[in-house]
Amino acid sequence: MAYGDRVRPRLPVVELTDRRALERWRPADPDTVEEARRLKEQALLDLGMTHSAIASWIYTKCHHQIATTAVGTAAVLASGDGTCVLLYNPDFFVALGLEGVRFVLFHEARHLVQRHLFADRELREDPVFTLACEVTINHVAKMRLRETGLPTIDGEPVGIDPEEIHRAYRADLDAQGVGSLDFAQFVATDMSVYRELGRMRHPPVPGPACVHVLLDDTGLDQETVDRVTSDVLRSVLIAARRGNGAAREELLDLLRRTEGAGERVDRLWGDLGAHALRGVTMPTRRVDWWQQWLVDVLASKLREGERLVYPKKRGALLAALGHDPMLARRGPERVKTIVIALDTSGSMPDQVVEWLTELVGRIDGVEAHWLSFDAVVMPFRPGERVYGGGGTNFGVVRDYVEGRLAVKGERLDEHPDAVIMVTDGHAAQMTPAEPDKWIWLITPGGDDWPERRHPPMACHRVRSA
Ligand SMILES: [Zn+2]
Repeated sequence: MAYGDRVRPRLPVVELTDRRALERWRPADPDTVEEARRLKEQALLDLGMTHSAIASWIYTKCHHQIATTAVGTAAVLASGDGTCVLLYNPDFFVALGLEGVRFVLFHEARHLVQRHLFADRELREDPVFTLACEVTINHVAKMRLRETGLPTIDGEPVGIDPEEIHRAYRADLDAQGVGSLDFAQFVATDMSVYRELGRMRHPPVPGPACVHVLLDDTGLDQETVDRVTSDVLRSVLIAARRGNGAAREELLDLLRRTEGAGERVDRLWGDLGAHALRGVTMPTRRVDWWQQWLVDVLASKLREGERLVYPKKRGALLAALGHDPMLARRGPERVKTIVIALDTSGSMPDQVVEWLTELVGRIDGVEAHWLSFDAVVMPFRPGERVYGGGGTNFGVVRDYVEGRLAVKGERLDEHPDAVIMVTDGHAAQMTPAEPDKWIWLITPGGDDWPERRHPPMACHRVRSA
């Protein structure tokens, strides 16, 4: 089972990517299915509200969540078509109860994160590494969910107990007459568990296997895992930067736990810009959160296939040296179009415009259209002074972007990939045709309604210097 020794792991009996077959397979009784669904929903809500922003986000990426007796426990699949699916056995969930379901859902989400971070095939094929993952995941689950023990079924604990494994480790090393670590040191990082288990003469493997271990090659497409997980980590990082304390604390903890895990993990964190969360400050110049945020969001909006890439190694290196990260384009694709619209009615921080100009100038293969606006739209060239007047109307920018309004006799004939609005937000709200392309930078003292609107738009406050 996902866990434990009371329910044997078993291979799925139907094709797990066939959603209809899954639902048809020996359906459980409807009351059980309904109760299991309710437990799952409640557990996901709890994870999102208090325990784990990362797990909660992972499940928002599982567009299909299917109660099925085709699996014995629960598993997240990442299939080659780029989708993620959560499968859960309804009898198993009902037997676990709410706290147990929360634990198992956290456990399974964490497996995806681990698989993303530790993609090395050799490592994953090592049964000691598999055991180490079970130990660290359950240890972290207990900490985060504030559980004193493992989930239980009929009063019996289910899963690999980190403390029990530690006792076996101590006994083994004592018998060899060599020193061992205490529990806190043993579970300090993912690699410390793996390393220490490797010192045992008889590591307790193979232990009871998790469903994901059985599914490894058929059920988990690495590319999908990588894409989904890095999307999730990026979203949580953005939340952390914007002041979500729980997201920040969880990411910092995950960072700490992956210390010493090698170049790949360092690089992944570097690509995300996560090290900055630890207060690693830029030595030569200051990069505010909103700037990093804009780079991230812009990169995600301009990303289409493999055309526009955030040069990972170089980006991380530049950031470490105190330079702003940059975007680069790959392949012979069409030029991307960005519209940057500056609200002249409020106070426009000069350094924001300067920085934007510099940023856009460094994005390879992008054509920028600069505008200023109040009640009307005017062309703007970076460096020019803007003269504000009258009231503000976001609608004129929308109409220009959507090709309905001409500026100096010219309509925008391209379809922009992103629209950056720099404004204090004080004007009538509006919803553009493609809200996911709009990025709002709200100047000090402004109103960040775009992120509260439905659907919400990417929005961040810029800091006054
Ligand atoms: Zn597991």
